[in-house]
Amino acid sequence: MDKHWSEMNKEMQTLIAKKATFKGGIGMLLELRKSLFEQITQIVTTFPEEAFWQMPFVGAEGYHSKTLAYSIWHIFRIEDIVAHEMIVEDQQVLFSRDFQTAIHSPIITTGNELAGEEIVDFSKQLDVRELYRYAKEVMKSTDEILAGLEYSDLKRKFGEDMVEKLQGTGCVSEHESASWLIGYWCSKNVLGLIKMPFSRHWIMHIEAMRRIKNRLCRQARKGVDPIAYCGFSCNHCFLAEWCGSCRTAYNVCAFATIFPDGKCPNAVCCQEKGIDGCYECDNLESCEAGFYIPSNDGAQAAKAQAMYIRKRGKKAFLKVHDRLHQKYGFVKTQEILGQDCREGLRILEES
Ligand code: SF4
Ligand code: SF4
Repeated sequence: MDKHWSEMNKEMQTLIAKKATFKGGIGMLLELRKSLFEQITQIVTTFPEEAFWQMPFVGAEGYHSKTLAYSIWHIFRIEDIVAHEMIVEDQQVLFSRDFQTAIHSPIITTGNELAGEEIVDFSKQLDVRELYRYAKEVMKSTDEILAGLEYSDLKRKFGEDMVEKLQGTGCVSEHESASWLIGYWCSKNVLGLIKMPFSRHWIMHIEAMRRIKNRLCRQARKGVDPIAYCGFSCNHCFLAEWCGSCRTAYNVCAFATIFPDGKCPNAVCCQEKGIDGCYECDNLESCEAGFYIPSNDGAQAAKAQAMYIRKRGKKAFLKVHDRLHQKYGFVKTQEILGQDCREGLRILEES
């Protein structure tokens, strides 16, 4: 489990267990959920449409054997059902704002009954933007419910009438892979529900989503030119585990994602000029666009690498990188190439 999330989760559980620290524990829970949700936002805003129905771990055991769209649907359907049917007993967000139509979902259940290709088919039908809007609304509504809880609410239990009520909603499939959920939820008190659908369940599925997205990026990079437009080597990049290269639809490099359209200005500029990379541009030395902006501490190192590619070609460049990585343990190229592109070029030429 992610160390940061795991520690927050542990501390939250300790804090909510005592009356004196209960409110602090709820505060910690809301922080944890915020941090987890940021991961979902990052995926939804940067990954291409096809990423949401792909199943890169098909046949595997575990949450990562699903799709990104299914994972989001499943986390928030469970939360919506538990928060609104069980805890406050009002209407679920899915129905109160007609999200089912907006999302184009053929089901109202948690999705536990789906398997393999059924998950892929289901995911293909969903409008991911609307699904994200639904997830956000469910989170907001649950956060308000959690913030309003008192320590005395934690011991509240659920009886047979709740089992029947949940069965009557049709929100949990009668299929054996799903029907157990109702008994499971009803065996918990409010404290137990906080510890699972509202926290740990998120962590497990969002960690699985990370695995899915990282695998998709790795798959996208296969057979693609490993030289980035700006002059970096994707083969040697410390972000390669998470980025599918600026030459694919999985361009989720940390720099590109800070722009509203998720596109790196250097990649856009090269594409507009119809050139292979900044190393083919006459303005390279004086350029201050995109990654080469002077305030970026990696700008000069990137430029030095583009200058080297222009002089010696990509093959030689990749070999120099191999040698540099063998010789020095470094993460970012500026640690070796420094803050002056001409000096960086000299280091590359002498390596
Ligand atoms: S961040 Fe840039 S160099 Fe690194 S993998 Fe992505 S596109 Fe390649
Ligand atoms: S102007 Fe700058 S960003 Fe555009 S291709 Fe040339 S070096 Fe790259």
